[in-house]
Amino acid sequence: MDQIIIENMEVFGYHGVFEEEAFLGQKFIISAHLYLDTRQAGKTDDLTKSLDYGEVCQFIKKLVETERYMLIERLAEEIASQLLLTFEQLQRVGITVKKPWAPVRIPLDTVAVQIERGWHTVYLSIGSNMGDKEGYLDFAIDRLNALADTKVTAVSDYIETEPYGGVEQDNFLNGALEIQTLKTPEELLETTMGIEQEAHRERIVHWGPRTLDIDILFYDDVIMHTQKLTVPHIEIPKRAFVLEPLMSIAPYYIHPVLHRSVMELFRELQEQDSKPQIQGEQK
Ligand code: AMP
Repeated sequence: MDQIIIENMEVFGYHGVFEEEAFLGQKFIISAHLYLDTRQAGKTDDLTKSLDYGEVCQFIKKLVETERYMLIERLAEEIASQLLLTFEQLQRVGITVKKPWAPVRIPLDTVAVQIERGWHTVYLSIGSNMGDKEGYLDFAIDRLNALADTKVTAVSDYIETEPYGGVEQDNFLNGALEIQTLKTPEELLETTMGIEQEAHRERIVHWGPRTLDIDILFYDDVIMHTQKLTVPHIEIPKRAFVLEPLMSIAPYYIHPVLHRSVMELFRELQEQDSKPQIQGEQK
Protein backbone atom coordinates (compact mmCIF):
# COMPACT_ATOMS: atom_id res chain seq x y z
CA MET A 1 0.00 0.00 0.00
CA ASP A 2 1.09 3.63 -0.61
CA GLN A 3 2.77 5.44 2.25
CA ILE A 4 3.48 8.95 3.45
CA ILE A 5 6.59 8.83 5.62
CA ILE A 6 7.49 11.25 8.40
CA GLU A 7 10.99 10.48 9.59
CA ASN A 8 12.69 11.51 12.85
CA MET A 9 10.51 14.36 14.08
CA GLU A 10 11.98 15.86 17.29
CA VAL A 11 9.57 16.65 20.12
CA PHE A 12 10.21 17.49 23.76
CA GLY A 13 8.11 15.54 26.25
CA TYR A 14 7.84 14.25 29.81
CA HIS A 15 7.47 10.47 29.47
CA GLY A 16 9.44 8.03 31.57
CA VAL A 17 9.46 5.79 34.60
CA PHE A 18 11.91 7.94 36.60
CA GLU A 19 10.84 11.03 38.53
CA GLU A 20 13.58 13.08 36.84
CA GLU A 21 12.19 12.22 33.42
CA ALA A 22 8.74 13.45 34.39
CA PHE A 23 10.28 16.58 35.93
CA LEU A 24 13.06 17.57 33.49
CA GLY A 25 11.64 16.13 30.30
CA GLN A 26 13.68 14.96 27.33
CA LYS A 27 13.84 14.69 23.57
CA PHE A 28 11.75 12.08 21.74
CA ILE A 29 12.22 11.28 18.08
CA ILE A 30 9.12 10.11 16.27
CA SER A 31 8.73 8.48 12.87
CA ALA A 32 5.38 7.69 11.30
CA HIS A 33 4.67 5.53 8.25
CA LEU A 34 1.15 6.39 7.13
CA TYR A 35 -0.49 3.78 4.91
CA LEU A 36 -3.22 5.12 2.65
CA ASP A 37 -4.27 5.17 -0.97
CA THR A 38 -2.57 8.18 -2.62
CA ARG A 39 -3.71 7.33 -6.17
CA GLN A 40 -6.46 9.98 -6.43
CA ALA A 41 -4.22 12.71 -4.97
CA GLY A 42 -1.47 11.60 -7.33
CA LYS A 43 -3.75 11.88 -10.34
CA THR A 44 -5.57 15.11 -9.43
CA ASP A 45 -2.88 17.05 -7.52
CA ASP A 46 -5.59 17.81 -4.94
CA LEU A 47 -4.54 17.89 -1.26
CA THR A 48 -8.08 17.15 -0.07
CA LYS A 49 -7.75 13.69 -1.68
CA SER A 50 -4.68 12.95 0.44
CA LEU A 51 -3.53 13.54 3.97
CA ASP A 52 -1.98 16.83 5.11
CA TYR A 53 1.31 15.61 6.62
CA GLY A 54 1.84 19.02 8.24
CA GLU A 55 -1.38 18.51 10.15
CA VAL A 56 -0.27 14.99 11.13
CA CYS A 57 3.07 16.35 12.44
CA GLN A 58 1.29 18.97 14.58
CA PHE A 59 -1.13 16.31 15.86
CA ILE A 60 1.72 14.02 16.96
CA LYS A 61 3.70 16.93 18.46
CA LYS A 62 0.71 18.03 20.56
CA LEU A 63 0.09 14.51 21.83
CA VAL A 64 3.75 13.94 22.78
CA GLU A 65 3.95 17.36 24.49
CA THR A 66 0.71 17.28 26.45
CA GLU A 67 0.32 13.65 27.58
CA ARG A 68 2.58 12.08 30.21
CA TYR A 69 3.22 8.34 30.09
CA MET A 70 5.63 6.08 31.90
CA LEU A 71 6.43 3.95 28.87
CA ILE A 72 7.33 4.72 25.27
CA GLU A 73 5.30 1.59 24.40
CA ARG A 74 2.24 3.46 25.66
CA LEU A 75 3.21 6.65 23.82
CA ALA A 76 3.61 4.72 20.54
CA GLU A 77 0.28 2.94 21.09
CA GLU A 78 -1.54 6.25 21.74
CA ILE A 79 0.00 7.95 18.71
CA ALA A 80 -1.01 5.00 16.50
CA SER A 81 -4.58 4.70 17.71
CA GLN A 82 -5.26 8.45 17.85
CA LEU A 83 -4.00 8.85 14.27
CA LEU A 84 -6.17 5.96 13.03
CA LEU A 85 -9.22 7.34 14.83
CA THR A 86 -8.71 10.92 13.65
CA PHE A 87 -7.58 10.66 10.02
CA GLU A 88 -10.10 8.46 8.25
CA GLN A 89 -7.99 7.93 5.11
CA LEU A 90 -5.49 5.93 7.18
CA GLN A 91 -5.65 2.15 6.91
CA ARG A 92 -2.54 1.37 8.89
CA VAL A 93 0.30 3.19 10.64
CA GLY A 94 3.84 2.28 11.63
CA ILE A 95 5.12 4.31 14.58
CA THR A 96 8.64 4.49 15.97
CA VAL A 97 9.36 6.34 19.21
CA LYS A 98 13.06 6.82 19.91
CA LYS A 99 14.47 8.00 23.20
CA PRO A 100 18.05 9.18 22.57
CA TRP A 101 18.64 10.33 26.17
CA ALA A 102 17.27 7.21 27.86
CA PRO A 103 18.81 7.16 31.38
CA VAL A 104 20.49 3.76 31.25
CA ARG A 105 24.07 4.86 32.15
CA ILE A 106 25.58 3.27 29.04
CA PRO A 107 26.43 5.23 25.90
CA LEU A 108 23.93 4.44 23.16
CA ASP A 109 22.39 6.09 20.09
CA THR A 110 18.76 5.56 21.00
CA VAL A 111 16.34 3.18 22.60
CA ALA A 112 13.21 2.76 20.48
CA VAL A 113 9.81 1.12 20.29
CA GLN A 114 8.38 0.34 16.86
CA ILE A 115 4.80 -0.80 16.28
CA GLU A 116 2.34 -1.29 13.41
CA ARG A 117 -1.38 -0.90 13.97
CA GLY A 118 -4.36 -0.77 11.63
CA TRP A 119 -8.01 -1.31 10.95
CA HIS A 120 -9.19 -4.92 10.68
CA THR A 121 -12.25 -6.23 8.87
CA VAL A 122 -14.16 -8.74 10.96
CA TYR A 123 -17.35 -10.74 10.40
CA LEU A 124 -19.47 -11.64 13.39
CA SER A 125 -22.56 -13.78 13.75
CA ILE A 126 -25.23 -12.76 16.23
CA GLY A 127 -28.09 -14.90 17.50
CA SER A 128 -30.84 -14.86 20.08
CA ASN A 129 -33.70 -17.17 21.05
CA MET A 130 -35.03 -15.70 24.28
CA GLY A 131 -37.20 -12.70 25.06
CA ASP A 132 -37.02 -9.73 22.72
CA LYS A 133 -34.75 -11.43 20.15
CA GLU A 134 -34.65 -8.56 17.69
CA GLY A 135 -33.99 -6.18 20.58
CA TYR A 136 -30.98 -8.26 21.69
CA LEU A 137 -29.48 -8.32 18.19
CA ASP A 138 -29.98 -4.55 17.88
CA PHE A 139 -28.42 -4.18 21.35
CA ALA A 140 -25.27 -6.01 20.12
CA ILE A 141 -24.98 -3.59 17.19
CA ASP A 142 -25.50 -0.54 19.42
CA ARG A 143 -22.88 -1.70 21.93
CA LEU A 144 -20.33 -2.36 19.16
CA ASN A 145 -21.00 1.03 17.59
CA ALA A 146 -20.58 2.71 20.98
CA LEU A 147 -16.93 1.54 21.14
CA ALA A 148 -14.39 4.20 20.15
CA ASP A 149 -12.21 1.75 18.22
CA THR A 150 -14.92 -0.24 16.41
CA LYS A 151 -17.63 0.57 13.89
CA VAL A 152 -20.32 -1.62 12.37
CA THR A 153 -20.07 -1.30 8.58
CA ALA A 154 -22.67 -3.83 7.36
CA VAL A 155 -25.68 -5.57 8.90
CA SER A 156 -27.53 -8.52 7.31
CA ASP A 157 -31.26 -9.05 7.52
CA TYR A 158 -32.21 -11.09 10.57
CA ILE A 159 -33.47 -14.58 9.73
CA GLU A 160 -35.53 -16.94 11.85
CA THR A 161 -34.00 -20.40 12.17
CA GLU A 162 -34.71 -23.70 13.86
CA PRO A 163 -32.72 -24.46 17.03
CA TYR A 164 -29.47 -26.36 16.58
CA GLY A 165 -28.07 -29.22 18.64
CA GLY A 166 -31.19 -31.21 19.49
CA VAL A 167 -32.36 -29.30 22.62
CA GLU A 168 -36.10 -28.41 22.78
CA GLN A 169 -36.23 -24.60 22.63
CA ASP A 170 -37.64 -21.57 20.86
CA ASN A 171 -36.60 -20.61 17.30
CA PHE A 172 -33.53 -18.40 16.86
CA LEU A 173 -33.16 -15.05 15.20
CA ASN A 174 -29.77 -14.86 13.49
CA GLY A 175 -27.79 -12.18 11.72
CA ALA A 176 -24.31 -11.35 10.53
CA LEU A 177 -22.27 -8.15 10.89
CA GLU A 178 -19.23 -6.66 9.27
CA ILE A 179 -17.17 -4.45 11.55
CA GLN A 180 -13.97 -2.45 11.32
CA THR A 181 -11.93 -2.59 14.50
CA LEU A 182 -8.56 -1.70 15.97
CA LYS A 183 -8.90 -4.51 18.50
CA THR A 184 -6.88 -7.72 18.37
CA PRO A 185 -8.87 -10.99 18.07
CA GLU A 186 -8.45 -11.66 21.81
CA GLU A 187 -9.54 -8.13 22.77
CA LEU A 188 -12.54 -8.43 20.47
CA LEU A 189 -13.55 -11.76 22.05
CA GLU A 190 -13.34 -10.15 25.49
CA THR A 191 -15.55 -7.31 24.25
CA THR A 192 -18.15 -9.56 22.62
CA MET A 193 -18.27 -11.75 25.74
CA GLY A 194 -18.83 -8.60 27.81
CA ILE A 195 -21.72 -7.58 25.54
CA GLU A 196 -23.22 -11.08 25.90
CA GLN A 197 -22.94 -10.73 29.68
CA GLU A 198 -24.63 -7.35 29.54
CA ALA A 199 -27.50 -8.96 27.67
CA HIS A 200 -27.92 -11.15 30.75
CA ARG A 201 -27.05 -14.25 28.93
CA GLU A 202 -27.63 -17.33 31.03
CA ARG A 203 -26.09 -20.54 29.82
CA ILE A 204 -27.75 -23.35 31.68
CA VAL A 205 -27.84 -25.96 28.92
CA HIS A 206 -25.02 -26.36 26.37
CA TRP A 207 -26.54 -25.56 22.97
CA GLY A 208 -29.49 -24.25 25.03
CA PRO A 209 -31.38 -20.95 24.95
CA ARG A 210 -29.46 -17.70 25.09
CA THR A 211 -30.44 -14.05 25.03
CA LEU A 212 -27.45 -13.14 22.90
CA ASP A 213 -24.66 -15.10 21.27
CA ILE A 214 -21.87 -13.37 19.36
CA ASP A 215 -19.26 -15.37 17.45
CA ILE A 216 -16.17 -14.17 15.61
CA LEU A 217 -16.40 -15.75 12.15
CA PHE A 218 -13.49 -14.18 10.24
CA TYR A 219 -10.81 -11.68 11.30
CA ASP A 220 -9.11 -10.40 8.12
CA ASP A 221 -7.59 -13.59 6.73
CA VAL A 222 -6.10 -14.57 10.08
CA ILE A 223 -5.89 -18.26 10.93
CA MET A 224 -5.40 -18.89 14.63
CA HIS A 225 -6.13 -21.40 17.31
CA THR A 226 -5.68 -20.83 21.03
CA GLN A 227 -7.43 -22.28 24.05
CA LYS A 228 -9.95 -19.43 23.95
CA LEU A 229 -10.32 -18.68 20.30
CA THR A 230 -10.43 -20.40 16.93
CA VAL A 231 -10.52 -18.18 13.85
CA PRO A 232 -12.09 -18.71 11.36
CA HIS A 233 -14.88 -20.02 13.59
CA ILE A 234 -14.70 -23.81 13.34
CA GLU A 235 -18.44 -24.36 12.73
CA ILE A 236 -18.88 -21.98 9.77
CA PRO A 237 -19.15 -24.64 7.01
CA LYS A 238 -21.73 -26.63 9.03
CA ARG A 239 -24.09 -23.79 9.97
CA ALA A 240 -26.68 -22.55 7.51
CA PHE A 241 -27.88 -20.02 10.10
CA VAL A 242 -24.42 -18.43 9.98
CA LEU A 243 -23.76 -18.74 6.24
CA GLU A 244 -27.15 -17.48 5.04
CA PRO A 245 -27.02 -14.02 6.68
CA LEU A 246 -23.27 -13.79 6.02
CA MET A 247 -23.92 -14.44 2.34
CA SER A 248 -26.04 -11.31 2.14
CA ILE A 249 -23.15 -9.05 3.29
CA ALA A 250 -20.03 -10.96 2.16
CA PRO A 251 -20.91 -13.54 -0.53
CA TYR A 252 -17.45 -13.57 -2.12
CA TYR A 253 -15.40 -13.53 1.04
CA ILE A 254 -12.91 -16.39 0.80
CA HIS A 255 -12.55 -18.71 3.79
CA PRO A 256 -8.77 -18.56 4.43
CA VAL A 257 -8.50 -22.25 5.33
CA LEU A 258 -11.02 -23.86 2.98
CA HIS A 259 -10.31 -21.44 0.10
CA ARG A 260 -13.98 -21.31 -0.83
CA SER A 261 -16.30 -18.32 -0.85
CA VAL A 262 -19.13 -17.91 1.65
CA MET A 263 -21.57 -18.45 -1.21
CA GLU A 264 -19.90 -21.72 -2.24
CA LEU A 265 -19.88 -22.95 1.35
CA PHE A 266 -23.59 -22.15 1.69
CA ARG A 267 -24.47 -23.93 -1.57
CA GLU A 268 -22.43 -26.98 -0.61
CA LEU A 269 -24.20 -27.14 2.76
CA GLN A 270 -27.61 -26.87 1.09
CA GLU A 271 -26.71 -29.72 -1.29
CA GLN A 272 -25.47 -31.81 1.62
CA ASP A 273 -28.66 -31.12 3.62
CA SER A 274 -30.92 -32.04 0.71
CA LYS A 275 -29.33 -35.52 0.49
CA PRO A 276 -31.13 -38.22 2.52
CA GLN A 277 -29.57 -38.52 6.01
CA ILE A 278 -28.12 -41.85 7.16
CA GLN A 279 -30.22 -43.08 10.09
CA GLY A 280 -28.94 -41.90 13.46
CA GLU A 281 -26.76 -39.19 11.89
CA GLN A 282 -27.26 -35.76 13.48
CA LYS A 283 -27.07 -32.52 11.60
P1 AMP B 1 -20.49 -20.11 22.45
O1 AMP B 1 -21.06 -19.10 23.38
O2 AMP B 1 -21.18 -21.43 22.48
O3 AMP B 1 -20.34 -19.54 21.08
O4 AMP B 1 -19.01 -20.40 23.00
C1 AMP B 1 -18.23 -19.36 23.43
C2 AMP B 1 -16.83 -19.88 23.75
O5 AMP B 1 -16.21 -20.33 22.56
C3 AMP B 1 -15.99 -18.78 24.32
O6 AMP B 1 -15.64 -19.14 25.64
C4 AMP B 1 -14.77 -18.68 23.42
O7 AMP B 1 -13.58 -18.74 24.21
C5 AMP B 1 -14.86 -19.88 22.51
N1 AMP B 1 -14.53 -19.55 21.12
C6 AMP B 1 -13.60 -20.17 20.35
N2 AMP B 1 -13.54 -19.63 19.14
C7 AMP B 1 -14.47 -18.62 19.08
C8 AMP B 1 -14.86 -17.68 18.08
N3 AMP B 1 -14.30 -17.66 16.87
N4 AMP B 1 -15.83 -16.77 18.40
C9 AMP B 1 -16.41 -16.78 19.64
N5 AMP B 1 -16.09 -17.64 20.61
C10 AMP B 1 -15.11 -18.56 20.37
